Amino acid sequence: MYPAAFDYYAPKHIKEVLGLLGKLKDDAKVLAGGHSLIPMMKLRLAQPKHLVDLRKVSGLSGIKLNGKAFAIGAMTTHWEIESSATVKSKLPVLAEVASVIGDPAVRNKGTLGGSLAHADPAADWPAAMIALDAEIVCEGPKGKRKVAADQWFLGLMATALQDKEILVQVRVPLPAAGSGAAYMKFPHPASRFAVVGVCAAVTLDKQGTCVKASVAVTGAGTKAVRAKGVEAALVGKKLEAAAIEAAAQKAAEGVDVQADLQGSVEYKAHLCRVFAKRAITEAVKRAGA
Ligand SMILES: Cc1cc2nc3c(=O)[nH]c(=O)nc-3n(C[C@H](O)[C@H](O)[C@H](O)COP(=O)(O)OP(=O)(O)OC[C@H]3O[C@@H](n4cnc5c(N)ncnc54)[C@H](O)[C@@H]3O)c2cc1C
Repeated sequence: MYPAAFDYYAPKHIKEVLGLLGKLKDDAKVLAGGHSLIPMMKLRLAQPKHLVDLRKVSGLSGIKLNGKAFAIGAMTTHWEIESSATVKSKLPVLAEVASVIGDPAVRNKGTLGGSLAHADPAADWPAAMIALDAEIVCEGPKGKRKVAADQWFLGLMATALQDKEILVQVRVPLPAAGSGAAYMKFPHPASRFAVVGVCAAVTLDKQGTCVKASVAVTGAGTKAVRAKGVEAALVGKKLEAAAIEAAAQKAAEGVDVQADLQGSVEYKAHLCRVFAKRAITEAVKRAGA
């Protein structure tokens, strides 16, 4: 399988990238790790006339801890996040999510920005970024702007990224004291994509009452979504098994659950509830309850 012919560009600065995107109009696509775009090009599901490679662009990679938030460059690979000692010590759920993406080859090449821009409905990062209240930073001809992760995913492989913009950074706030987070998924046995994945983050006060809950689901529908019913059912409660079970029952509410080759609507809704329960239970344990 060969892709259709295209011209290749390897700019070194973001301004050059934005200049190229402005000049090349609608026929250009940026290339990050290539682990979603290149297969699509080989299948001729995408036929860009111009490929603007981001790999040599300075300032798009790396993980920085700026005060109370991580700033992760769009071109940072899944492996860099999985293996970062700072991530593991300050926000281990990020390393946990990265570690269950695909296989080592995918994790070595695939990027955080590429995953969020591509918005595959079965990708892992979308649920994590929504549950962790991340902000996505884009840069375009009018400068930079930030979009909350729960406003980013608009539909099947559709995001809030605007024309001629690129995703440059993801900001993930550090959780308050008394917090715990976990990501649990039912992986497709071949690709490891999430048939259903749930990320849960909870904050407990000193008496063990939940003061904040943030839960998101990926895989089940056309886009990752916040499980608002679950969140509302957790806040104000002591998160013992019965309370978690009752909240997890709401995990498929508000998700446009789709039947596909992996399972029926009923089966995938069931997985939402099962993996919500597991993720919340683990998050509560990690919060120190
Ligand atoms: C065998 C296999 C298994 C996989 N398993 C999983 C899995 O279990 N879980 C999972 O989450 N993912 C999985 N993936 C997907 C993988 O994580 C990809 O790396 C990811 O989806 C896309 O990232 P990329 O850097 O490769 O982007 P690319 O393929 O280079 O680009 C993808 C799309 O995003 C756009 N884009 C890329 N970067 C930017 C940017 N900075 N700004 C604007 N647009 C941008 C491109 O133009 C393109 O349209 C798998 C992939 C393969 C091939």
